[in-house]
Amino acid sequence: MTEVFDIAVIGAGVMGATAALFLARGGMRVALIDRGGICQEASGVNAGTLTLHMTRAALIPHAMRGREMWLDAPNWLGMDVGARSAPGLSVAFTADERDMLEKRAAARREAGAPITLITAAQAAEIELGVNPTILAAAYCALDGHVTAYLTGRAYRQALTVAGVTLFEGEAAAGIARESGAWAVRVGAGCVRATRIVLAGGVWLEEMLSWLGLTVPIRCLINQLVVTERLGPVMRSVLGIANGLLSLKQFENGTVLIGGGWQGRGDVVRGGVEAIPDNLIGNVRLARHTVPALGKARIARIWLGLESETADAMPAIGPLPGVPDAFVVGCVHSGYTSGPFMGRLLADIVLGVAESPHAFNPARLLAAAGSSLQDSVA
Ligand SMILES: Cc1cc2nc3c(=O)[nH]c(=O)nc-3n(C[C@H](O)[C@H](O)[C@H](O)COP(=O)(O)OP(=O)(O)OC[C@H]3O[C@@H](n4cnc5c(N)ncnc54)[C@H](O)[C@@H]3O)c2cc1C
Repeated sequence: MTEVFDIAVIGAGVMGATAALFLARGGMRVALIDRGGICQEASGVNAGTLTLHMTRAALIPHAMRGREMWLDAPNWLGMDVGARSAPGLSVAFTADERDMLEKRAAARREAGAPITLITAAQAAEIELGVNPTILAAAYCALDGHVTAYLTGRAYRQALTVAGVTLFEGEAAAGIARESGAWAVRVGAGCVRATRIVLAGGVWLEEMLSWLGLTVPIRCLINQLVVTERLGPVMRSVLGIANGLLSLKQFENGTVLIGGGWQGRGDVVRGGVEAIPDNLIGNVRLARHTVPALGKARIARIWLGLESETADAMPAIGPLPGVPDAFVVGCVHSGYTSGPFMGRLLADIVLGVAESPHAFNPARLLAAAGSSLQDSVA
């Protein structure tokens, strides 16, 4: 291919796809490359919880903006992805858990999240389905959920309308600098672009290694369980203090059970499998928290790969010392904040925003002792 794009984004999850969309709307000729389809990995298989309870305090303002973008998706994405606002409760069964909630709520309030501690009776008024033996709950009016499997369809339509050239089913195998531009190796050919964005989620570590950079990216192998359709059993987004549960009922009656219980998997060769004890533990906890789930039957379980940097803050911005190369992603609960973070990266590339200090990729390279000496820079 002889065309030289203004920018090639590698990885079409919510981070890369949002960046590509706003780069195209900013006037750039954009190539978006994914070895699968758009938003088919973490960004299409996640629990879709828009959560401030589980977001680190430092990321609250960004998660709030991401949540607003999801709720406004028909306007900027052109399609409703099932984003709904719902009350969020994180419950405590023990005094220790109540103390934990109190501390966490205070830190998040300071960062702008309207999270308050409420009594068990108040929690039962918000969520009739909750186990009446809880001691207390943290309440946030600004939680909600999205139907994650609708994400890819919505982005494909928006990206096409915006004029982004999509390379789906095309694995990038490496990148090189040629005549002042980037050449991304895909199959037998290559995609050329003046700039590149690496948006590979858990595969960002591999992508950075193409540049001779070593940055460890943590991979979580999260399990999700969905029930058959039920009559109404709950209306909130429900979790527990230790973070090991997330529950919500969709409009079609199914209840999605998550909470970061881990499975097994291989980020290099692919493939995931559930760990039976973790499946049972997750479902038991769900039934304990919403007793009406005792009657529910499991329809399906699946697992997906979530990425996180060593300091749990995202990487968003230019790669220091590497010309015209940017990264975006790798933050826990990154679906909530994803649209905001992808848009932020686009604004940084377009020169209308700067990389916030805490997100600057330079810190990760420094912490990992990664050197640019052997890179393509
Ligand atoms: C099971 C599960 C539940 C979750 N639940 C929630 C939740 O409830 N709320 C929340 O806020 N967050 C949740 N998350 C986290 C959230 O899904 C992720 O943080 C977010 O989707 C990451 O987006 P991303 O674009 O960075 O990565 P991804 O969506 O993983 O996208 C990376 C893309 O890079 C592509 N790629 C990789 N290598 C190559 C290559 N060589 N060439 C071309 N393309 C390549 C992949 O195919 C993939 O499409 C969950 C995650 C999982 C796995």
